[in-house]
Amino acid sequence: MINDPNTSSSTMLPPKSGVSVRMYNPGFGDCFLLAFPTKDEKAFYTLIDCGVHHQFPKGKEKIRKVAADIAAATNKQIDLVVVTHEHSDHISGFNYAREIFNDISIENLWLAWTEDPTNELANKLKESYGMRIRAISTAIGRLNLSNSQFAERLKGILNFEIQATNGNSQNPSNSSLDFLRTKSKIKLEKPEDYRRPEEPPLSLPNVDGVKISILGPPKKKEWIKLVESKSELYPELTATNEVTAFVVAILGLDPTSPLNTMETEIAKRSLPFDKIHQIKREELEKRGYEQFFHDHYYTDEGKDASWRCIENDWLFTAEQLALSINNYTNNTSLVLAIELTKTEPNKVLLFVGDAQIGNWLSWIQLESMLEESDDIDPSAQDLLRRVVLYKTGHHGSHNATPSRKGLERMESPDLVAMIPVNEQWAKEKMHWQHPAEKIYNRLMEKTRGRVLRSDMIPINGSLLKPSLASEGEWAAFIDQIVWDNSGEQLWIQFTVSD
Ligand SMILES: [Zn+2]
Repeated sequence: MINDPNTSSSTMLPPKSGVSVRMYNPGFGDCFLLAFPTKDEKAFYTLIDCGVHHQFPKGKEKIRKVAADIAAATNKQIDLVVVTHEHSDHISGFNYAREIFNDISIENLWLAWTEDPTNELANKLKESYGMRIRAISTAIGRLNLSNSQFAERLKGILNFEIQATNGNSQNPSNSSLDFLRTKSKIKLEKPEDYRRPEEPPLSLPNVDGVKISILGPPKKKEWIKLVESKSELYPELTATNEVTAFVVAILGLDPTSPLNTMETEIAKRSLPFDKIHQIKREELEKRGYEQFFHDHYYTDEGKDASWRCIENDWLFTAEQLALSINNYTNNTSLVLAIELTKTEPNKVLLFVGDAQIGNWLSWIQLESMLEESDDIDPSAQDLLRRVVLYKTGHHGSHNATPSRKGLERMESPDLVAMIPVNEQWAKEKMHWQHPAEKIYNRLMEKTRGRVLRSDMIPINGSLLKPSLASEGEWAAFIDQIVWDNSGEQLWIQFTVSD
């Protein structure tokens, strides 16, 4: 393939056989355009996510350029849009570049079962999520009164969760997902219209030799809540959890409410004592306990009690809460294993969104097995063994690419990785290790240098051969790559042939 200087404003052609994967560079965020050849020698375009982190400088402008390129590349016809999860760095493009997407036709939309409004568990998870979001907003309100810088940090995390989903300023009620649901010609109406891990592999209309397995998000909430390891489980309704107690306190949830809602339930469970040890306030005096509490817990009028005051310190738990929400949303990622079935063995492209460990474990490990065991699900093992393109999870963070049961199982000598990331911005502005050094080094070793990064797209010239790559292998790799030569560093594209 030749790097045509004009490619950034022209059609993206599919390969004769296989698939081309264009990784965009919106700054910091995920946006992938895949072109499959159809039976009648046209293209089937699949867009997986389109977002930029809302704090990335000039992110809106960058994602608009990306969207304009998508419009040109697809001749304004996308066959399938896949949304992995609702974070601004994955879906904000549909808001920031709304006027461009307005002009593009979208045939079909894949959303995970967690977005199905008729799914009971999905609704419960959303209710719990909503309650936590309100708790953080309330904490920000209180911290604002005391001019805390911490409030600003919290706002950053909160906006990451909700800004992208809450619509743009012109049309605030129309979120990215609402927009896509309306836009898609094939409507999501029944539970079967949402993607679920238990459904049989899917094919793409008019495309030969492609089979797509849905691996996540897991159908059990325990897995969704498993964000790092079992010891990090965030149970929904336990009294001992600091975060849960915080939600109850800041929202002033009432454990004595006669209503049988999730809020009342969570408030009841946050009480420090079991029911048999609880005494109603009005009974204190009757039972003669008033003096005891007065002596030990109350303050006499006129006495300095400032030492008892915790002011805003307790509000700092809000950050822990915000991060737990963040991890949770990552774990709802829709995970796709795209198999090219014309080759033997089949080649696999693995798109994991930002899935964290619970999502991975739900499909790589049989549920009955212990986390410590080395066994993994045979079908997952088989898929991992054949991965030739790994879309690195969560921008290469430490908690989204398992080692023993994940990356180490990817044994194909053809393995290539793509990382949508901006390491410098992540490190300097956000204090994140994206990509995590150990994961990055191991990816480089496993792929023998064939790692494509959205923050390392050549301006012109060529992609430098890393020392880990052999001359021959590198030349063959370069043959499969083409990138935006407009000087904008807008995308880099790799073709998996079969
Ligand atoms: Zn992300």
